Amino acid sequence: GSNLPEVRSTCAYCGVGCGVLLRPDGAGGLTVRGDPDHPANFGRLCSKGTALGETVGLDHRLLAPRAFGRDLGWDDALQLVADRFRETIAAHGPDSVAFYVSGQLLTEDYYVANKLMKGFIGSANIDTNSRLCMASTVAGHKRAFGTDTVPGTYEDLDQADLVVLVGSNLAWCHPVLYQRVLAARQARGTRIVVIDPRRTASCDQADLHLALNPGSDVALFNGLLTEIHRRGAVDPDFVKQTSGLEAALETAGNDQISETGLPAEKRAAFFDLWINTPRVVTVFSQGVNQSSSGTDKVNAILNCHLATGRIGRPGMGPFSVTGQPNAMGGREVGGLANTLACHLDIENADHRAAVQAYWQSPAIPQSSGLKAVDMFRAVEDGQIKALWIIHTNPAVTMPEAGRVTRAIAACPFTVVSDLTLHTDTARLADVVLPAAGWAEKNGTVTNSDRTISRQRAVLQPPGQARPDWDILAEVGRRMGWKTAFDYASPAEIFREYAAMSQIAARFGKDLDISGFSDIDEAGYAELEPTRWPLGRKRAGGRFFGDGHFFHSDRKARIVPVGHRRPAALPGQQYPFVMNTGRTRDQWHTMTRTGLSARLSAHLAEPFVDIHPQDAAREGISSADLVEVTSRIGRGIFRARITQDVRIGHVFAPIHWTAETAPSGRVDMLVPGTTDPISGQPESKATPVSISVM
Ligand code: SF4
Repeated sequence: GSNLPEVRSTCAYCGVGCGVLLRPDGAGGLTVRGDPDHPANFGRLCSKGTALGETVGLDHRLLAPRAFGRDLGWDDALQLVADRFRETIAAHGPDSVAFYVSGQLLTEDYYVANKLMKGFIGSANIDTNSRLCMASTVAGHKRAFGTDTVPGTYEDLDQADLVVLVGSNLAWCHPVLYQRVLAARQARGTRIVVIDPRRTASCDQADLHLALNPGSDVALFNGLLTEIHRRGAVDPDFVKQTSGLEAALETAGNDQISETGLPAEKRAAFFDLWINTPRVVTVFSQGVNQSSSGTDKVNAILNCHLATGRIGRPGMGPFSVTGQPNAMGGREVGGLANTLACHLDIENADHRAAVQAYWQSPAIPQSSGLKAVDMFRAVEDGQIKALWIIHTNPAVTMPEAGRVTRAIAACPFTVVSDLTLHTDTARLADVVLPAAGWAEKNGTVTNSDRTISRQRAVLQPPGQARPDWDILAEVGRRMGWKTAFDYASPAEIFREYAAMSQIAARFGKDLDISGFSDIDEAGYAELEPTRWPLGRKRAGGRFFGDGHFFHSDRKARIVPVGHRRPAALPGQQYPFVMNTGRTRDQWHTMTRTGLSARLSAHLAEPFVDIHPQDAAREGISSADLVEVTSRIGRGIFRARITQDVRIGHVFAPIHWTAETAPSGRVDMLVPGTTDPISGQPESKATPVSISVM
């Protein structure tokens, strides 16, 4: 190693938000180890975090702005972007432009993007790839609590006696949290239940695996709620802080538990464990969120915790784990088309007025903007005429990816900010802006348990690459808003955001980081991992110690929800249900993990898992190339025959792109069906057919 000092930062991958210690080698490289003092991981890292140093090479990097196929100076590029956005807005109105951003953005980047679109352009057409990740959780939290609060913390996992993983392969997708659960199992015998149609690595240590029918989570948790009530396990004191239990029980009573497809003894074993174990944390992730009934699934889970008062207390609570490094920070500063910063509501006139006054801005949208799937459809039909995509690859990752690709290609003006030209989306752009990468920029991220941590720059951005907040602010200034976007550093943006959270506190919201309103550059440089709300601790049985929730009556809602099957069901033409997800060592479209030979060795090509009985019936042998076809697209995958998937089900990972495997892109097959409340796509239940090539 070099003699350069280690710098504390945060892992660039998942929402666990592990602390890392980075030591630059002086030649553009890095060594990485876990930060023993970070409260998310206490020194642990998973395979992806450990290999971060292998992903900072410059081979694929974009070094200068490009427009219409040639290099351009920053001055011309920024002016071009500002002019085209301004002209488009002048001719067609603010809703003719859109930003599609990403959970890869730091909180300060996100804050500036959101302020520019909502406060100054005056449209709410900013959405983020978090829409594909946890929008259903945001909607479920808001319905239940009146605000998008994650009530759980990582310590709850250490202190739980039962951890229920619903639609979460925690062992692969949040490995360090899974290690914490296993450590708790070692220390206190914590039981683990996995609820997932598929057998995953998370089942290896589980006491019980419920391989339920896809999309039947509401029926299962409604069954649990009914049983909680029948056995007298409702907490009468806590329920006084809620409303809706009677109605929720009535609706739950109409559901058929047989919809889950689970044998009675397995259901009973789960109900017994859950009801008899006060310290229960129900962890949920994409299997819950990525569904046409995702929001209802979230509320079905929250309902059981609210009815029993098992929430906001040590070792108890519903707990959403997020996919991206800063999905939470994006939620907090209002990066979704239907939110304002600091958990304020776009639909609330008082909130809008307060935010507009704080920003001293010329405009504020009166209602929600276009959510991701609708946004790209609006690009397709010509309503959106200028689009800026930042650190995400929708030509691969959106459902109906073929349609999205064609829409982006046909958009009159598309800007992409990214580290590389080599993404399916960057190739379609008119203007490509070189952004600084992880390890090259300063800012903050928030992890799944509300802990804000610093990312710190330890390497020089290559070529002309610049941080996103800086690019966005410069475009804002060139569009005519000089003072509002006159930022000299990310610390200045963080201060502005922190001070803004006073407004949220004034409206009784919980997102309060106003203690950071006067943080100076040195304080920001040294900022320790800090969980919000600052300075408040929860007391026994009380939500955040205040004893109230965030609806106007200060009560939580137990929301009546009924089971709905997935929007499309298998039939004669498409007899299988395709589930999608991750592999252990890859991340999104492999733009970063693909640079590590170590990581790419594990499962190197697109594959589809199929049950032995289905394979035999279809004449498929192990390692055959098979064509998988849905109503909207087709792909070619290597068959893996495994009992991990159920009969009638197949599973395919999401990572491959036009560059890495042109025929193996699963989102070409997934239709753009969404949850009616959250707008999150149903990514895990696509009817398909399969045939040997
Ligand atoms: Fe990074 Fe997540 Fe692995 Fe932690 S668990 S090292 S945050 S990828």
